[in-house]
Amino acid sequence: MVLLLFGPPGCGKGTQAAFLSERLAIPAISTGEILREEVHAGTPLGKVVSDLLAKGELIGDSLVNDIVASRIARPDCARGFLLDGYPRTVAQAMNFSTLLQRNGLPDPLVLHLDVPDDALVERLGARRQCPVCHRIYNLLSQPPRAEGVCDADGASLVRREDDQESVIRHRLQAYREVSNPVLKWYGNASVRRVDGAAPPQAVASALEMLVRQSVPHVAPAA
Ligand code: AMP
Repeated sequence: MVLLLFGPPGCGKGTQAAFLSERLAIPAISTGEILREEVHAGTPLGKVVSDLLAKGELIGDSLVNDIVASRIARPDCARGFLLDGYPRTVAQAMNFSTLLQRNGLPDPLVLHLDVPDDALVERLGARRQCPVCHRIYNLLSQPPRAEGVCDADGASLVRREDDQESVIRHRLQAYREVSNPVLKWYGNASVRRVDGAAPPQAVASALEMLVRQSVPHVAPAA
């Protein structure tokens, strides 16, 4: 099972990816998260991508393709996996298709979360993340129990550098310009659209139902 969770920045991909990962017992892989970890750890790759990440610019295709190829080769991906934030360009989608064929893996099921732009700007402006466990909060819809600190480990929550409003608008524009053609490239037959503006629990149920209907041999719900 290969799932691609698709949608603009702030559409709830991270939350829904974690939910699907747990329900379907497959890893959820976020290219954005991998890149942020590299920046945080100060690796050579992190140093190369840190400016682009802070500005909300897309990282070069070949770099991201290589990251995904080595990640899905790991044993935890043997039963399937979910990708969040990849592919973001037609070139990445084409490369990924070749990679899947080469590894004898099935065509992906593309899940697209639709959310209006204004709702995204509001949501992203209120988003905070724990720098230690990476848990995501939203000051409007999912605030931490105590203001400013993570429920799980008490670390001070931070606003991601690329969640500033001007950067958010830039990311939404980049998303529309670059990634919409990717959905067209996959075509209606493989893309399933879900209303991402609905409450998180309703979105989660809709996604899980879609996967169970579309992908054969998914383990029954717990
Ligand atoms: P995300 O967490 O998915 O919003 O990604 C955060 C940032 O990581 C993006 O704004 C890009 O700078 C970079 N990034 C993540 N995935 C990709 C990708 N597939 N292609 C290019 N850049 C990416």
